[in-house]
Amino acid sequence: MSVMKRGSIIDALRDALGPEKVLTGPADLLAASHDESDMKPEKPVCVCRPSCAKDAVAIVRAALEHGVPVTARGAGTSLEGSSIPTPNAVVVDFSTMDQVIESVPEEQRVTVGPGIVYDRLNRLLRQSGLFFPPSPGGSADVATIGGMVSTNASGIYALKYGGTRRWVSALEVVTGRGDLMRVGTVVPKTTAGFDLKDLFVGAEGCLGLITGITLRLAPVPHASRKGGFLFPDVAAACAAASEMAAYIPEMAALELTDADTMDLLRAIPSFASLPKGHALFIEVHGRAEDCEEGFAAAEDVAGEHLGIQLPDEIPDPWELRHRMTGVIREAAQPDGVVRTDCAVPLLSLPGFVSDAKKRAMQTGRGMYVFGHVGLGILHFLMPLGGTGAWSKDEALREKARLGLAAVEAGGTVSGEHGIGLGNREILGAEHPVGIEYMRAIKSYFDPANLMNPDKVVIADGRHPRR
Ligand SMILES: Cc1cc2nc3c(=O)[nH]c(=O)nc-3n(C[C@H](O)[C@H](O)[C@H](O)COP(=O)(O)OP(=O)(O)OC[C@H]3O[C@@H](n4cnc5c(N)ncnc54)[C@H](O)[C@@H]3O)c2cc1C
Repeated sequence: MSVMKRGSIIDALRDALGPEKVLTGPADLLAASHDESDMKPEKPVCVCRPSCAKDAVAIVRAALEHGVPVTARGAGTSLEGSSIPTPNAVVVDFSTMDQVIESVPEEQRVTVGPGIVYDRLNRLLRQSGLFFPPSPGGSADVATIGGMVSTNASGIYALKYGGTRRWVSALEVVTGRGDLMRVGTVVPKTTAGFDLKDLFVGAEGCLGLITGITLRLAPVPHASRKGGFLFPDVAAACAAASEMAAYIPEMAALELTDADTMDLLRAIPSFASLPKGHALFIEVHGRAEDCEEGFAAAEDVAGEHLGIQLPDEIPDPWELRHRMTGVIREAAQPDGVVRTDCAVPLLSLPGFVSDAKKRAMQTGRGMYVFGHVGLGILHFLMPLGGTGAWSKDEALREKARLGLAAVEAGGTVSGEHGIGLGNREILGAEHPVGIEYMRAIKSYFDPANLMNPDKVVIADGRHPRR
């Protein structure tokens, strides 16, 4: 793209939004150039900070006029490159649209701007006795609701409460055609035509921009209890997890952490008391007596698989969970990691995980695994630096192999992080026919192919390697 054209989109945006909402400083461009994946950053042409839906409409219309791509950005915590700007794109940073617009606790709903952060929203809701459940694990303190909706994020509580999609009631969106519309409804049930709202959930900004979100809310549970169990081998931990998920209705969170990840966590001084082995961390929700019953049932299941309960003095499981990605990435410096978030049916878990670990071990490569195993979601992390390093090519091949094997087993290439740049090549294997329908849907919402166009489905079907 020519320098003149870049100048003209910036001028057009400054005219439409006001100069204070269009940032071009080197630090602003750098901050918007990457996400939390270890993929190659890309500086945008400029960063816009809309303060209302009207601004977002103006951005899309200016982009259409100048033929410039648009990449939406929440907190930039994507792990699959979804929020890395398309080359020569305008980034739309929603962090200033972070207000609670309407709170109606009597109807268990709240309407928010897309830039509000998950933990902050739940802190604001606390007094009402309600919460938005699908906590995105280690990024809950920074991830925005707009980013969560756009990736259909799910997290530690998704086992009991489902992913983000289940809680999205209505959206205000600007399509890639520049139309502003509301999709969905605030009433709990509708049969009014095709569900356009659900198309935007998990669309990774490829159909348009989300400028308002109405969420359904859940009552805070009466009581909860968390704890952990330690297993001698990873297959036993997975077998126990699949039984707990299937048979213990109080189970709200059920997380696997393999022994290699536990070893890295133990090196953190405040976690030095962690024992060695493969761990399942759980949380049960319900009335106090249900929690006791649910926890006792989990102990029984763990015992049947040679698992023992971890002492209560171990660090809080969710503090550990919060640190996992970080400690693995640190150990893999300077090159970072390649990761998967494929998901497999519960009964496939033990074989799938132990095979992947065995394959890596046989070649002397490191393979860390943790994940929301109650939902079959597995994060395999392959270090590109440090002990057991993979070459990038080998690790990308293994990532694709694991994704395809998950599909073969009846699962999915992405349980929660999305397709972004990292899973584009294998999406078609999961949806060989459906991918053409996805392309057709995108081309209707975004006929100029400007909305995050290098992510998820590529208009001409060619997926350049990153
Ligand atoms: C340590 C760590 C742990 C994580 N754990 C989890 C986990 O447990 N579960 C999970 O699901 N994810 C997890 N993630 C991934 C990530 O946090 C989630 O995908 C999160 O939902 C992204 O939110 P964000 O605000 O950072 O969005 P971004 O990364 O900024 O954006 C994500 C995608 O949404 C699009 N987007 C953002 N806002 C809008 C908008 N307003 N309109 C249209 N499109 C938009 C972007 O273009 C991009 O495609 C984790 C990430 C980290 C770093």
